[in-house]
Amino acid sequence: MSARGKGQPDKSPLLLEVRNLKTYFFLDEGTVRAVDGVDFEVRQGQTLGVVGESGCGKSVTAQSILRIVPPPGRIVEGEILLHRMRHTGSSGTDVIDLVKLDPKGKEMRSVRGAEIAMVFQEPMTSFSPVHTIGDQIMEAIILHQKVDKAEARERAIEMLKMVGMPKPEQTIDSYPHQLSGGMRQRAMIAMALSCHPSLLIADEPTTALDVTTEAQILELMRDLQQQLGMAILYITHDLGVIAEMAEEVIVMYLGKIVERADVDSIFYEPLHPYTRALLKSIPRIGRKAKQRLESIKGVVPDPYAIPKGCSFHPRCSKAIPGLCDREEPPYVQVKSGHLVRCHLYA
Ligand code: SF4
Repeated sequence: MSARGKGQPDKSPLLLEVRNLKTYFFLDEGTVRAVDGVDFEVRQGQTLGVVGESGCGKSVTAQSILRIVPPPGRIVEGEILLHRMRHTGSSGTDVIDLVKLDPKGKEMRSVRGAEIAMVFQEPMTSFSPVHTIGDQIMEAIILHQKVDKAEARERAIEMLKMVGMPKPEQTIDSYPHQLSGGMRQRAMIAMALSCHPSLLIADEPTTALDVTTEAQILELMRDLQQQLGMAILYITHDLGVIAEMAEEVIVMYLGKIVERADVDSIFYEPLHPYTRALLKSIPRIGRKAKQRLESIKGVVPDPYAIPKGCSFHPRCSKAIPGLCDREEPPYVQVKSGHLVRCHLYA
């Protein structure tokens, strides 16, 4: 369970607001609306889970926040408002719109790493294979903090200790390939947290790990969140991991949020047929031995040819002919904090 307790209304101050974010990829084959009008917010110290199948826009949302969307993708509309503590000593926050910053400029580079950090599924996308993990963690520390090399090394060893790395004084001089998958993941988390970011974006960080190592890494992230007080945006296709980590959940399908609620409501009172289908496809204790797991009918449609009306209608067992295949459903609040995009609740 995360720092704040599941299902609790969260009153902590805003950290990040994403408003009507649209990130499109302009390809010869057509335009892919990878993120198409997404709204959510993350509060200080909160864990927000983002769930959905591959290709639903989760990772592009994260790349948009960090301004690392690869070409030919770009943000075409929307705001990403970061509330930052004033550094001047006066209380309160300053708000900057990350969409307005130059992705390669000094200010965005200082946000990336120092205020918002990211861990990926595959640590080798973060680490260079030709430098030791210590050199790479130290480089991140020296870039964002005014410390010399000796101090940076001390801090890197501290971070490696914090993430449970055995013999950190020696491991700091290891190359990434000399570490196991789980240890590489710990080293990546150490690098991401070395500058104490206020938001950690975790994009499927445990997907490539065995279940025991996965459980250890999830526990580590929860402990570190409590110690450091950071918020986590946790991206995964795995609802089991969401149940472990998140207080609030957004479910994405083809670039849009289709349901949003606290984690208990998502698990015990899911509304959207897509969320219900995702839940039926996860293994549960108590399921009869011979009962088969259900898979979601069909596949995620071609991103160049998103179905008209509700984009989920070709796969939906509740689809209303003549309505769902023609009109886009509105995004409605069914009860406080529980929103759904479906004609059944309009
Ligand atoms: Fe299914 Fe219609 Fe709801 Fe879409 S709007 S999820 S097709 S019932």
